[in-house]
Formats: sequence, structure tokens, C-alpha cells
Amino acid sequence: MNKKILIILPLIFSSFIFAENLKSPTSYSKNLYEEIILSGNYDKKIDHPDKFLDFNYGDRVASPSQIHDAINTYKNQSDKLKVVTYGYSHEGRPLHALFISSPENLNNLEDFEDKLSRLSDPRVTNNRQAKEIIESLPAIAWMSYSIHGNETSGSDAALGLIYHLIADNSPKTLNMLKNMVIIIDPIMNPDGRARFVKSLEQYRGTAPNYDDQSLIHTGDWPYGRTNHYYFDLNRDWFYLTQPETQGRVSLINKWRPQILVDAHEMGAQDTFMTGPAREPINKNMDKDLLKWGNVFAQDQGSEFDKRNWRFYTGEWHEDLYPGYSFYVNFRGTLGILYEQSRMAEDGVKRPEGTIQSYKESVHHQFVSSLVNLNTLLKNTKEMYKDFWNGRKLNISKDSKWANQSFVILPTKNKSRLNTLAKKLQSQDIEIYINSEEIDVVNVLKQTGDVINQFTIPKGSTIIPNRQPEAPLISAILEFDAEIDEDVLKKEREAALRDGSSIMYDTTAFNFTMMYGLEAVTVPENLKDNLSIWEPASVEIDVDENAIMWIVDGTDDLSVTFAARLMEQDVQVRIVDKDIILSGKSFSRGSPVVIAMDNPKNSMLVQLIKNTAKNLNVSVSSLYTGFGSEELPDWGGRHFRLLNKPQIAILSHEGFSSYDVGVSWWSLDHHLGIRHSQLNTSMIGYADLRRYNTLIMPSGYRPLNQSEISVLKDWIKQGGTLIANNGSTRMLVSDNSITSIKDVSDSFENSHDYNIKLQREFLSNNTTIDLDYVNNNKITSDISYPWEATDNRIDSDTLQKRDKWQSLFMPSGAFVSGRVDDKHWLTFGTIDTLPLLYSNFPVLMAGSGSKAVIRVGELINDNNQDIYKTINWSDIPAGNDLNIRMSGLVWPEASTRIANSAYLTQERYGKGQIILFSGEPNFRGSSLGTNRVWLNAVVYGSGMGTSARINP
Ligand SMILES: [Zn+2]
Repeated sequence: MNKKILIILPLIFSSFIFAENLKSPTSYSKNLYEEIILSGNYDKKIDHPDKFLDFNYGDRVASPSQIHDAINTYKNQSDKLKVVTYGYSHEGRPLHALFISSPENLNNLEDFEDKLSRLSDPRVTNNRQAKEIIESLPAIAWMSYSIHGNETSGSDAALGLIYHLIADNSPKTLNMLKNMVIIIDPIMNPDGRARFVKSLEQYRGTAPNYDDQSLIHTGDWPYGRTNHYYFDLNRDWFYLTQPETQGRVSLINKWRPQILVDAHEMGAQDTFMTGPAREPINKNMDKDLLKWGNVFAQDQGSEFDKRNWRFYTGEWHEDLYPGYSFYVNFRGTLGILYEQSRMAEDGVKRPEGTIQSYKESVHHQFVSSLVNLNTLLKNTKEMYKDFWNGRKLNISKDSKWANQSFVILPTKNKSRLNTLAKKLQSQDIEIYINSEEIDVVNVLKQTGDVINQFTIPKGSTIIPNRQPEAPLISAILEFDAEIDEDVLKKEREAALRDGSSIMYDTTAFNFTMMYGLEAVTVPENLKDNLSIWEPASVEIDVDENAIMWIVDGTDDLSVTFAARLMEQDVQVRIVDKDIILSGKSFSRGSPVVIAMDNPKNSMLVQLIKNTAKNLNVSVSSLYTGFGSEELPDWGGRHFRLLNKPQIAILSHEGFSSYDVGVSWWSLDHHLGIRHSQLNTSMIGYADLRRYNTLIMPSGYRPLNQSEISVLKDWIKQGGTLIANNGSTRMLVSDNSITSIKDVSDSFENSHDYNIKLQREFLSNNTTIDLDYVNNNKITSDISYPWEATDNRIDSDTLQKRDKWQSLFMPSGAFVSGRVDDKHWLTFGTIDTLPLLYSNFPVLMAGSGSKAVIRVGELINDNNQDIYKTINWSDIPAGNDLNIRMSGLVWPEASTRIANSAYLTQERYGKGQIILFSGEPNFRGSSLGTNRVWLNAVVYGSGMGTSARINP
């Protein structure tokens, strides 16, 4: 049967049955905007976009499947189009890049790719060859749309643009295709768009709706912006955690386009923004590109003027963070951002009473695209020359990157290092390893200290910055991104005036701190005696005659190993101290499977072997449980039995979709074990006994009293509650469920908090004076830590200062985390763990709780000969405290958060509460703190609650 008839039949039925129920609207939105978007001299053999839509092109939002239908048809109808599928979204939707050019050019794509790769590496190409390549290459543009799924007009414009370019027979378009390869990525985030299109269907009534507050315009939680796991794909360009970004960036990096257009939408009451960014701009970015950015913006602006369309450039658009689409600028491509006000999909009423239609917003994006393509056509050769000069600078000994190398120190956390190396290599960054020690001078540590003499241990991972991708390497590995004094001035003034910020994203983002890997920067170009980096070998030794099998606890995959075996009902223990068994040493936190614990499991050896193979993690067989001298033995209390985690994540309205998404993704990505997401509105009547571990991502929904009491009962019975940021703040301010306080609520008891802190300090560093201890007489010579200073600050002053200091909280910067290296939550972490810190609750841990990670690295400093008092806390003589590691942390903020807890753990009944002041899984990339969170999720129930014995 013909498709048309199929559509008509239900229409006839519906008009018979329902015609009386709904009134027709008094007007239609399709009449709002009379301009025609597609007005070329079109080839009749190519189907008009209307053919694939159940509305006229531009009137409404095309779904991903409608656009894919068009692409699949065009593929067969035109020889000016080649479709490359660069990946699939989490929900299985294809990700396409459409190469559009003359048929001759499309036959030469391989040749172009080869030339581009040679033009990018002056080590294999000379000036004469470069000149030839530039003369023979077509212009190359990458046009990408709607990375945020609910910013829809871009993809609709892309559909029109594809049609226009392949169907228009005007000399102008034909000439364009003769001299250009235009790569169109029409739907960058198909899953988010599909989610939003579905909500448009669901909230549609009969009359068009122009109220931008109504559900049809906003959609609902988790909204359409993000992908399947609620990741913002426009923050993922170098962290590369999502399949959409991984596939896309790999293809873009191969093609090195001259421009990359990234078409977005912004607030409905706004106009249109494009053009170069304002400060702060990342200092590694090529200045030529800023110049070209202005050229493109000027042409685009004149066209908008001509058509009487409003626009602006700069304003809120900054580019410090390299994970936006402006990522491409570090590789020599000009990134161009469009921000169209958001009309989805009937149109939006504005304060002056006009209604801007959806079709007009599509038209803006369409026209902008064509104007940018024409500007490129005019300037392509000049831009290639600048590109070539930039590439030469990158490897020259005169660049600012020339004498700098990044060194990641050796680690037993093989899987984490492998992940980082893979991400760097996939971005064409060359990395090396040294087989001999290297002596260097003036080495910069992550904490900002400079070491005069330093020996790089053998087996370090070395990334010299003098490479073709020098700007990118520096942007993503340098410990601190440079911010101009003028920007700092404006930022401080904004904070003082109204508590606002001119920083659009985090001010710190470097890979090694995100990953919690120790690294140093060496001020020289390391190049001698290095070999190409390769992953360490994996040894899977699972002997059925062994008495136990163990994985080293430093490796993140050890948590995965334990979690996956427990899910298959294997009893797993964890060794909570460093240990040497059968002559091999293992870190504290190593999971071990003991044959005697699993007497009925006939498949045990096979399960262990398969799990290790599947994860590619080393396992050792052990034949004795005797740890020599004082080291733990297998029957003792250091071999602690774990409990299979049964996990639920609280979710939905009231929680940060990002933090829910990344928690969910972390479980699926790092562990792959079963868990449930609960709609929190049903927490009052859900049967929580099914779970022993509840994850409460950051949220802003206060629980009501009955929900709190349900949670309390559940924890008392042995549950582990893990909360982040906003939810931690909520639990702390509730005042009945946890003993942890926010600093603003702690001044009356500041002495007690300080004493707890001093006990921690002293318990890590005490000396014994035998005469003093063995004295048989009573002595009046006892030292009290708080009496070492008379600088105590009264609670009134503390309160006033805190209020002032809180004006300057960071908006995403690294601070030093001081780790309790005896606590099970810190298995696998380094001693000074970088914490990505924002305006989080500042946590105070009193008696009955543990401050597992505190803010501030305690360092020896013999110049500090007296106790130093910072707000409520003292630092013992002979020490100083490092707080800031990277990014903007005002001294007021450092003072406020010094010695506060980032992570706390406390018992509650038979269960426990674990509070993170921040969001440990940020963007799926803060692997340092993510490990701590995984420890909480997988080991929490076994390590921090009372063991349950089933009678
Ligand atoms: Zn956007």
C-alpha cells in the first residue's frame, strides 16, 4: 500500500471520532514568517525536505529519524554527497558526517586527507611542498549542528543546507562545490534531540503556544540538552568520554577543517550571537585564528544587517576551557559559534509584543552557514598559509612551548594511566617512556612548588611539548591556565558587586589533576633516550591449586574486579593494609578471593580467570597466607569480607541531571553491574530493603520529614547512604540525620573541631621522650595543642569573616586534598589528591565522624616556627598548608575551606553516611575522586556497616 493512503486512513477515522472534542485554533504559527528559506535553482530529481516531514520545512522541529531518512535518500539521489558514519549514540542512533563537494573532489578525498596530514607536520614537509599542497587543496569546512539536543534550529538548518548544496544548480553553488569540501554533521546529539522531539509531541495542544515558559518550550527533566547519560557533549571535546565525541573528534582531527561551525541556541528572549570570544581566552590559542574570527563575524554581521536581523558578538562568550567546540582552535581550525535564541517550536512572544517564529530561527542558522562558507571560499589560501606557519611555530625552538615537558610519574594504577595515554594518543599527541632515570632541575610540582634538583624515575610517561600539537598539549596538560590581571579584576568586581562571575566554566581542567595522577612539569625539551610509550603488560595468573587470588588495589580495575565477582555471588575480601604474600607486594585495598570462602563454587577459578581477561587486569595466585613479620596474615582482621552492593540511585526532578547522569554512567562504564534508578517522589513508599547502598547525586530538592525518617530507618538497619554536593548540603542543614555541620553553623563549637583536627595531625606525627614518659612523678609540664597559640578567633569574628570569605568561593578550581591513608575510602588514591572545588558546602566533622579527605596539603616548613591560626583551625609549628593547585581560588576562599572536610564518613545505627562536599564524578573525567566514590559504592556496605549474618 502506498504510504500516503496509510496516512489518510487514520485521519479520516480521527475526524469522525474526535472532531467534536477539539476546537481548531484561531491562527497557525506557520503563517508567522513569510520568507522562503530554500530558494535555489533546484534539481527536480532531488527530493525537497518537505517530502520527509509531516509539515513544511522550517515550520517545526524535524526528528532525528526524519533527517536520517532524508540523508539515506540523498545518498542515492546525488553524486555530490558521501556519507560517513563516525559512530553510534548510546541509544544506537547513527552519527553521520556528510561530505559534500563536486563528484571529482569526492573521488579525491583520500588524496586530500593525505595532503592535510602532510601540511600538519613540518617535520616531514618543507616550505615548497607546503606551497604546492596549499595550491592544490580545496577549502575544507566542518559544519556541525545542535550538539545540545533541545537547541533544535541548527539541525533543521542543516537539513536545508544539505539539500541546497546538492540540489542547487546555480553557478554560485556549483563553484562552491568545485572549490570546497563541506562536511556537515547535521545532528551531533541525536539522543537528546529525540528526547526533546518526544516532549514536543507530548505537550502539544491544538493552538500554537508562544509562551516560552510552557512545557512545550522547556521540556522536562532531564531535558533535551544532554545525551543519553545526561552528559553535556560540548564540554567533552578533549576528555572524550562519550561515543558521540570520540567518533566525531577522531574524524575532525583527521580532516583538520579550516573552520568548524558549531550551531547552538540560547535563551528565547535573546537574539543571535556569533563571532570571536571575549576574555578570558586560553593563551595557547593561535592569535591568527582570533583575527580570522573577526573576518567571518564581519561578513555574517553585514548579512544580518541587510536582512534586518539583530545580532551581537562576544559578551558572555569566553574561551578559557578547552573542552568546548573551540577545542579545534588548539589544532589550527577556526571555531565559530552560533547562538540563536530558542523558539521551539511554535515561536516565542517577546516583550515588545512581536512573535519570532521557529522558521525564522532556522533561517538565521541557514543564512549564517552560507555566509561563513563564502567567507572561507574567499580566504581559504591565506588561512592555509597561516595554518602552515602555525604548525612550523609549534615545533620550532622559539615557541613558548619549546622548552617544556610534562612528566607523569610511574604508578601502579595501570588502567588509569592507560586511559589517559589512549586519550592523548587519539589526539595525535606523541608520548614516551624512559628506561633510565633522568636528572633535571627546577621542576614544577602540581602544588606549585618548584624543586631545584629532581630525578625522573624510570618508567615515567613523558610528553615533550615541542610537537605539532603543541598548543593542545599545553592547553590540556599545563597545571595552570594563564588568566590576565584585567580579567581577574573584572571577576573580583563582579563577585563584590552582586556575587556573579564572568567565568562561564571551570577555571581548572588539566588532565593529570583530573585523573589524580602525580605529574611534574620540566622546563626543558626532553628528547634523549626515550622510547614510544606502550601500555604495561598484563599478567593473568589464575592457578587452580592456589589458596587465593589477588588483584593489586591501586589499579582502579581492582574495584571493577571485586564488584563483578560479587555480582556473581563470589565471596570477596579486601586487604586493608599493604601486604607481601608469596614474595609479591600488594597495595592496601587489594581484593582477594579465597578458595575457602567459596567452598561450593565449582566455577570459581573459571570465573576469576574470565573476569580478569574481560577487564584486562593482572591477577596473581597465592600459595600461602603468611605475611612475614608484622604484615597481615590471611586469617587476621586485615582480610575483610565484603558485602555485595545492591545499589539504587535517587533520581529525577530536584536532582542535578548532570550528577545523576554521571553517577549512572560511572556504574555502567566503570563497573557494569546492576543497579536501579529510583524516582525520588516514591521514596516514601518504595521498599528500600532491596538495596544496601543508596546514591544521592547532587540535588536541590529538600526531602520532607517523612522521607527523611524513611531514610533514617533504612540507614539504621545497615544501609550506606552516599550523597554529593547539593544533597550533602541538604542533609547537613536538616540537622537530624548527620553530625556533620556546614562551617557557617559551626562557630560556637570551633574549639572542638580544632581539637579533632589537632588529634589527626598529632596521630600522624608524634615523637616520644622516654624521660618524660617514664617519669614516676606527676608533672605540670603537659602541652595542650590549643595552648600553643593565643591567636584564637572569637565566634562573632569567625562569623563575620566567613560571610565575607564566602563571597569569593571558586567556580571550578583544583585544591589539594589531604588524604587519610588508613581509611578504606582512600584505597588507590595518591597522598595529595587534587579536588575539583566549587561553591560547595564547607564541611565540619566533629566527634563520631571521620574526615577522610580534608582540604590542604600539610607541608614541612621550618620557617613556620609557631602555630598558625586560620579561621577555626591551627596548623602546627614547622608546617604550612598548600591549598590552591590550579585555577582561580581567591585567598579568602583558601582561608575559608582550609582544613574543612571534602569527604566524611560516619556510622549511623548499623549503617553509615558518606558525604562528599563536591561532585566526585565530574564530567566522567575526575578519575582521582571518582575512585573514592567507587570505593564508597562497591566497598561501603562491607567496610563501613555492621556485617549481617543470615541465620
Ligand atoms: Zn548550546
